[in-house]
Amino acid sequence: MEYDIVIVGAGVMGAATAFYLSKYGKKILLLDQFRVKNTLNSSQDYSRVFRYEYGDDEFYTNLAVESLKLWKEFERETGRQFYFQCGELLIAESKENYALKCYKTLKKLDHPVDLLDEKDLKKRFPQFSAKLGVLDHHGGVLEASSVVESFVERAKKNGVLILENAKVIRIENDTVFLDGKNIKFKKLVVTCGVWTSKLIDVPITITKQQLVYFKPKNIQNFTKDKFPLFGYLDKGFYGFPIHGIDAVKVSNHLPGKVVDPDEDDRKVSEDFIESCKSFFRKFIPDLADTEVVKTKVCFYSMTSDEDFIIDKLNDRVIIGAGFSGHGFKFAPLIGKILSDLAISGETQYDISRFRMNRF
Ligand SMILES: Cc1cc2nc3c(=O)[nH]c(=O)nc-3n(C[C@H](O)[C@H](O)[C@H](O)COP(=O)(O)OP(=O)(O)OC[C@H]3O[C@@H](n4cnc5c(N)ncnc54)[C@H](O)[C@@H]3O)c2cc1C
Repeated sequence: MEYDIVIVGAGVMGAATAFYLSKYGKKILLLDQFRVKNTLNSSQDYSRVFRYEYGDDEFYTNLAVESLKLWKEFERETGRQFYFQCGELLIAESKENYALKCYKTLKKLDHPVDLLDEKDLKKRFPQFSAKLGVLDHHGGVLEASSVVESFVERAKKNGVLILENAKVIRIENDTVFLDGKNIKFKKLVVTCGVWTSKLIDVPITITKQQLVYFKPKNIQNFTKDKFPLFGYLDKGFYGFPIHGIDAVKVSNHLPGKVVDPDEDDRKVSEDFIESCKSFFRKFIPDLADTEVVKTKVCFYSMTSDEDFIIDKLNDRVIIGAGFSGHGFKFAPLIGKILSDLAISGETQYDISRFRMNRF
């Protein structure tokens, strides 16, 4: 069996790549070691953050602008909503922090952003208690699992073959080896998330990230029309308004313990739950004594500089990896870039920061 292009890994990056490649009329196979809908990869959940703000890193803000155009294009094409704009509020205790950098950069690039002092903040978002707030108007919730499903559905409709429960054991020249089966390819795209370095030598570290879902007593105060995405990124905490589950989802963006994704017990610790509660006591008091209704562990695949790895490894193999806990919002753009690299070896987008040779 030979395919023009084989994509290994059907998380959001592989799924988006399959969707963009499906427009070229090539013979394409997308395969995954699990079912597309699984609980183990990094792309499946009710929600992911979309935001324009990236501190003073204009490169990623500009990338987010490009990506939002593609999210909207995908929404038009499918007739479904994946991006729910509700704003992202960065809170802080002092003026010397990440939130203020975001404010200055978004202002400079002429994107809508508000700087709120303690009084304004209390008036606009009474749920929060902080000295300072910065509201990125483009912040929004991405409906993560539906996105992956829809990319795959569309790709399938356009003729891409989907093979589930198909684990690639090794890659050699023009062949991927599965248990009892070999598949030949002209081009290969590897989007294996936290498992990438089990197949290809890439400098990524896997860290354990914990998520907790708290059910507020007054749910109506935490819906997207009243309560934005929030982050205190100097301390790492961030969270979501209610979306897909009657709970506020909270996590910490600071990289957790280094693990092997196949060996970790995937349990959320009591200490982590307590750290969320103590964050709430200070900054979102109404959430401090609420019930935990769900917990989840998910893994980041971190590069040393937190920039992605998007590159050709050789004439046949293309890689998309190391998304360092902030890749989801760029998924359509990354899918498009990986499909460009598979089709023509080049892309119109600037991927100089994502090349392998920087390591
Ligand atoms: C807790 C958490 C919160 C995050 N929050 C945000 C956020 O709010 N905003 C944001 O922009 N980004 C966020 N991210 C980052 C984003 O979710 C990830 O960067 C993105 O989902 C990675 O997608 P992926 O397709 O590369 O990997 P994955 O989703 O892990 O998919 C890789 C797939 O490859 C398959 N695979 C692996 N090895 C093999 C093999 N040998 N054979 C066959 N298949 C294989 C796996 O089964 C898997 O399905 C977050 C990540 C985590 C973990």
